[in-house]
Amino acid sequence: MKLAVFNDNRIGLVRDGLVRDVTHLAPAEFGSWPEQRMNWIIRNWTTVEGLVEDAAAGAGRPVEEVILRAANPAPPQVFAIPANYKAHLGEIGKRSITKGGRTAREVGFFLKAAGSLSGAGEPIELPAGSARRFDHECELAVVIGKAGRNIRREDAMEYIFGYSCLIDLTMRIEPGEFEEDRSLRKSFSTFTPVGPWLVTADEVGEVDELRSRLSVNGEERQSARIGDMIVGIAESIELISSVVGIQPGDVIASGTPQGVGPLVPGDVVEIGIDRIGSMKLDVREAALAPRPF
Ligand code: MN
Repeated sequence: MKLAVFNDNRIGLVRDGLVRDVTHLAPAEFGSWPEQRMNWIIRNWTTVEGLVEDAAAGAGRPVEEVILRAANPAPPQVFAIPANYKAHLGEIGKRSITKGGRTAREVGFFLKAAGSLSGAGEPIELPAGSARRFDHECELAVVIGKAGRNIRREDAMEYIFGYSCLIDLTMRIEPGEFEEDRSLRKSFSTFTPVGPWLVTADEVGEVDELRSRLSVNGEERQSARIGDMIVGIAESIELISSVVGIQPGDVIASGTPQGVGPLVPGDVVEIGIDRIGSMKLDVREAALAPRPF
């Protein structure tokens, strides 16, 4: 099943190019906290799934007519896996903070601010007037379906609710200059587009043979097989849950393949993953911040 968050954080079932509004299935109290609705839907999926399926028969409207927001706009936690494809290791040279060919297996994960998420209907906004380099990273988003701690990799796939496309935007360090913390460089608002929707794990099936791809202004920059990750999805969940409990709605950015490169205002970036979907985003300049970068 494909679930979308749209307009003012309404919940929709996406099928055959139409969005059916199922917002009413979440408790009315979420009217005052709408960005949390998807967390509730995920947490209560075993009882909600059948009701969402019933909505498939109702009237819908074309998906092009709504503004798609982040597939889960307020995840409790956003984890990210660095250095996770062999061919990506070393490609950013002195701008990399992962040294000596080390991978996610040695260095673990990092965090992105949950507030950095945006959706398929929203532009990417780069800091105004900046001379820094801002790179795209094409990643599979894994969305957690149930809480757990100390999960072994052989049990890990049961904890997955679904998948989405994710761009891990990154402000690169300047060689020889002071290095800001990675969490800052990857947490500007709109630096984590997740969409166009969330596809439940049962509908996606086996992920290893799926391919991800990213293009800029119509020119392909990244293309990879999901199964070529160094630390696979199950091992990532084992790693993360060995440190901290995972929660329904959490997002894991599973790591980028080779081909990362800069984005500038005016670019159009498109990301797609087999069986999940694709989204095309405009790149703009953000409003001037009091602290420039
Ligand atoms: Mn990344």
